Amino acid sequence: MRKLPISRKSLLRNVYNPISNDRIDQALVTWFPAPASFTGEDCVEIHAHGGKAVVSAILQSLSNLPDFRPAEAGDFTKRAFTNGKLDLTQVEALADLIAAETEAQRSLAIRQLGGELGLLYEQWRRDLIECCAFIEAYIDFGEEENLDFDIKVNDRIKCLSNEIKCHHSETKNAERIRVGVKVAILGRPNVGKSSLFNRLVGRERAIVSPYAGTTRDILDAALDINSYAVILTDTAGLRDDMKIDIVEQEGIKRAIQTASEADLKLLVVDATDGDVPSEIKTDENTIIIWNKVDLLKEPIVQDGIKLSCKTGNGMDELIETLSEKVEHLCINPNSPNPISSNARHSYHCKLCLESLENYSKLIKQDIVLAANELQIAINHMSKLTGTITNDDILNVIFSEFCIGK
Ligand code: GDP
Ligand code: ZN
Repeated sequence: MRKLPISRKSLLRNVYNPISNDRIDQALVTWFPAPASFTGEDCVEIHAHGGKAVVSAILQSLSNLPDFRPAEAGDFTKRAFTNGKLDLTQVEALADLIAAETEAQRSLAIRQLGGELGLLYEQWRRDLIECCAFIEAYIDFGEEENLDFDIKVNDRIKCLSNEIKCHHSETKNAERIRVGVKVAILGRPNVGKSSLFNRLVGRERAIVSPYAGTTRDILDAALDINSYAVILTDTAGLRDDMKIDIVEQEGIKRAIQTASEADLKLLVVDATDGDVPSEIKTDENTIIIWNKVDLLKEPIVQDGIKLSCKTGNGMDELIETLSEKVEHLCINPNSPNPISSNARHSYHCKLCLESLENYSKLIKQDIVLAANELQIAINHMSKLTGTITNDDILNVIFSEFCIGK
């Protein structure tokens, strides 16, 4: 038996087939003894040359080991979770970090990987467990021991509930960092929506044509605006015309649907006719854009951005306005309190809050039912960090990883 190499140092080594003693490759080998490894288990990394023959010869040699099998997606991370190296919020953060495309996504993910969010949820869980223990003691022994029901427990639960509410109220703005701010380009046919889409995307993706109704379906592009992710959508032109065909009608229906789901609307109007579509409700998250100003003899006076997709005039102002609105719709990834951008967290926080509300209503009438609600609230907190799990959820989370992570 050879001596194990120094731990956690990459060493250049010859790799041999243990049976034939054939030299397979020269590789960097690193030995991570438990528990100081990513998974918490003994682990060896072999950084070999990447050719098919080298890799399969190494795998072939290893295949004689007992329990040898190729890794599945997320296999190593799953071990790290099972061995208590990461909680579930950190596992999710790792997936987010690997998938991060914008600065804001990266900063949120690396913060969450540090564990602050898991610690917050764990603290809430422990606080609720203490409250619950007190109430259960009261249910069991309160009358015999003449225990007074401690009003402080109710205050504490109220307080926790407010903290969770405050955290939960930020999820929408945090989720936009993770999934992207939805920006829809809307307007009548032929006003220059696809031209604007192309200008913003920076390449010719949508078909631009002088014929009304060319953009029939919805076209999406992912953009990075001032380090925030934006999902930009080009839509079919809105028009009220009985003569249009079924495909175009469907396109218009989808455009109206997209408008209602959008975080921001870019309402494009042809400045030469000034016809603003009434189907779209304008609000503080609508930017009105007067396009084709290059064709005007007199400048227009209405509010909104004056743009020419043809010359590019007005694009800087549009992007500046867009950046401000996008930033306003997203949480600051560096804000002091732990942030969650994950829909799963939001779901459990919401249900936890509902149970705490039920608790407050029930505590005056039926302490046993109230305690039961508290137990449900605790379970939701436990699911957040992974103290309680089920295979379905774990499979969804770990399948997002690639093989080898
Ligand atoms: P959509 O139907 O709203 O998507 O409009 P398109 O982007 O397909 O453009 C319709 C027509 O208007 C095309 O011929 C474009 O070249 C033209 N167009 C778009 N923007 C401008 C502009 O700012 N100035 C001028 N002169 N023409 C434009
Ligand atoms: Zn179009």
